[in-house]
Amino acid sequence: MTKTSPPSIIALDGPAASGKSTLGKKLADSLGYLFFDTGVMYRAITWIALQHDMNLRAEAEITGLAQKAQIDIRPPSKNDGRGYDIVIDEKDVTWAMRDGDVDANVSIVSAYAGVRQALSEKQRRIGLRGQVVMVGRDIGTVVLPEADLKVYLDASAEERARRRYEEIITRGDKADYDEILKNVIERDHIDSTRAVAPLRPADDAVILDSDKLDADQVLARVLELCK
Ligand code: C5P
Repeated sequence: MTKTSPPSIIALDGPAASGKSTLGKKLADSLGYLFFDTGVMYRAITWIALQHDMNLRAEAEITGLAQKAQIDIRPPSKNDGRGYDIVIDEKDVTWAMRDGDVDANVSIVSAYAGVRQALSEKQRRIGLRGQVVMVGRDIGTVVLPEADLKVYLDASAEERARRRYEEIITRGDKADYDEILKNVIERDHIDSTRAVAPLRPADDAVILDSDKLDADQVLARVLELCK
């Protein structure tokens, strides 16, 4: 029998600010799938640790936090560009989790094996239900290696920093391009050289370079792959 249904489990990986979330959200909307951005989980743990002045180098404590933290991901309550609400202790931290402090520290937290184990187990449980677009760094390689479609979205660091800059300015916040570029390069370096689940395309991933494609063109390419 010819397979006519679109892939049920879609893994979307790539470096910082490569447009994965924008693509993932649009793709999930057009397929009627769940959009799950795993980066928010690592960001949430980092945000909580910073709020409580925890030592980010204390691996055991940070791992304990990842094992017990309650992170709520809810439908968006505001029309301000968000794809969801992230709620921790009844506090809306959707944008707070994207601030420079979290950007600068999240890769330290996400490199810990115990943190990754706690979070990727949850991600895998959700992903295996199917009809999901899961976005991250290690979805196609570690979290859901059985994904039906794997896409690795890449772009130059300069282009990614430019996009992140525009996004922040559009939101009405202040941003420093050089600072963003530095952070993007640093995060990619830590994410791709860590011992556990480093950032890299799965062997069977389709690699798309979004330097030359705008968001709609990237979406069109991926929808084509879904056919
Ligand atoms: O995707 P986003 O930029 O929000 O991810 C923030 C950070 O979370 C990444 O730089 C990376 O350190 C970590 N992350 C990860 N594995 C994932 C998703 C995110 O290590 N699957």
